Amino acid sequence: MTDVTPLEGPRAPKLPNISFEFFPPKTEEMERNLWDTIKRLAPLTPNFVSVTYGAGGSTRERTHATIVRILKETCLLPAAHLTCVGASRGEIDEVVDRYHEAGVRHIVALRGDPASGIGTPFVAHPDGYKTSPELVAGIRKRHADIEVSVSAYPEKHPEARDFDRDIDTLQAKVDAGATRAITQVFFDNDFYLRYLDRVRARGIKIPIVPGIMPMHNFKQARNFVTRAGTTVPDWLAQKFDGLDHDAETRKLVAATVAAGQVQKLAKHGIDTFHFYTMNRADLVFAICHLLGIRPKAAQEAA
Ligand code: FAD
Repeated sequence: MTDVTPLEGPRAPKLPNISFEFFPPKTEEMERNLWDTIKRLAPLTPNFVSVTYGAGGSTRERTHATIVRILKETCLLPAAHLTCVGASRGEIDEVVDRYHEAGVRHIVALRGDPASGIGTPFVAHPDGYKTSPELVAGIRKRHADIEVSVSAYPEKHPEARDFDRDIDTLQAKVDAGATRAITQVFFDNDFYLRYLDRVRARGIKIPIVPGIMPMHNFKQARNFVTRAGTTVPDWLAQKFDGLDHDAETRKLVAATVAAGQVQKLAKHGIDTFHFYTMNRADLVFAICHLLGIRPKAAQEAA
């Protein structure tokens, strides 16, 4: 049984730092759902909330609109994801300038997946940023007051030949001005802890924030994360065994598993977590509650 004992009580002085990731909605209904989610999670006072950028830049305008609305209608600090895919440097620079003009001061800079699909070779736009370190440098050069976060891969990126090369790229991103890395989702904490050792052994000091994904829909999520190189351990699959038609129990199991994962990381001194919310509040809210995090109004009333 996964241990879900709260590490600290609700008024403990040192609660974990959290951030949330959303994706830009495609339809009005999805938009309403996202805003319900944001309203539910905002009182948990995350350090920032990020909004993804669809593969190939397909959501450029929707990402922008979501980020600007967060900025206008909430007290949250938004971080806009941006990739190098399918756009010239000029076009990307324009996106960065628009964000800056709107008041955005945090970008999650990524190379992005190949336009022809994961597993095929990445071909940069002929006039584009060719690598993530180039993009990081480009953003920092245009606007030194924009904070840049980047990706990190506890199981190494599938394209990287080995961990050393993978960490060379992380080092290049840090040298270009990145100040935080957020990891690809992982379920086996040992991958993350070993990766952290490797990164620190190379002298890289920036926070490597673990990316935590509660599995709302195990089968769907498994397909998705496996394609991105994440291992789904057998013990995890077994926990969802027989629950294909039982969404309620799946939810409880998913929250328990993710809360247990976070608490075990906390026991190793990790105090900052990035949650892949999939635009749903329920599980992430429950996990944060188990960690002792309460909505701001409740904290103040306590
Ligand atoms: P990088 O950090 O540049 O590279 C990752 C690794 O691959 C490095 O080890 C590097 O050495 C190696 N590598 C890169 N290119 C080559 C090459 N040509 N040959 C050999 N090795 C190579 N995708 C989106 O489309 N939109 C998003 O909003 C988005 N958000 C993300 C957020 C997070 C926190 C993470 C972890 C991933 C996200 N992704 C997103 C996915 C990401 O775009 C893909 O994983 C992509 O394949 C790599 O981009 P990167 O910036 O992470 O790669």
